[in-house]
Amino acid sequence: MKLHNDYRLLTPRINRDKQSFLARVIITLKTTFSLDLFSGLKTALGAFFSSKVTIHYPLESAPLSPRYRAIHKLQRLLESENERCIGCGLCEKICTSNCIRIITDKGDDGRKKILNYSINFGRCIYCGLCAEVCPELAIVHGDLVENASTQRAFFGFKPQLLEHKSSLLEFGGFGSISMNADERVKKVPLSYCKDSQIPLESAPQENTNV
Ligand code: SF4
Ligand code: SF4
Repeated sequence: MKLHNDYRLLTPRINRDKQSFLARVIITLKTTFSLDLFSGLKTALGAFFSSKVTIHYPLESAPLSPRYRAIHKLQRLLESENERCIGCGLCEKICTSNCIRIITDKGDDGRKKILNYSINFGRCIYCGLCAEVCPELAIVHGDLVENASTQRAFFGFKPQLLEHKSSLLEFGGFGSISMNADERVKKVPLSYCKDSQIPLESAPQENTNV
């Protein structure tokens, strides 16, 4: 039978029983100290001296993608530090798992106030739709991934979800505005004049006689 070079035919067991003790010892020694042993050792030593691929969790953690959808955060405005959420309810409506609840009321100043905002993390599937739909960039997916719980239903409430005032930075992860947002904004006719160096005075003026 013609075999590939890498394959070797072992003597069938039925014949080995008929071999003498000395013949069997020789075959065993040959098999043990053949090049197979060294090729296995080479693989093991290569893995031993190569750079490590594991980390020392929880002392170390693997880097997350900037678009990773971890536990939600409610953002504040950078200038005034006021809450961004306006209680429009879009995130509650779009949530496929029906796990967001917002309680709002009319404040003393006549404006809508968000009394509480809760997410049931036991139901949430981290689809990101709430962050995608939010018109105020108020709800985003932060970078906290450790959210194991002994309860099937466990809730995050507004005080935990709301960003602390001391750590105010524009969020760059999932739910934030994209880096090339300006390029994707639908242009108005005047933008084309600006891009093509046409003097703005020669652009058609808005009809104010309506
Ligand atoms: S988080 Fe955003 S979408 Fe949800 S209620 Fe607040 S403003 Fe509206
Ligand atoms: S990530 Fe998806 S499932 Fe979770 S709260 Fe947002 S919309 Fe609901």
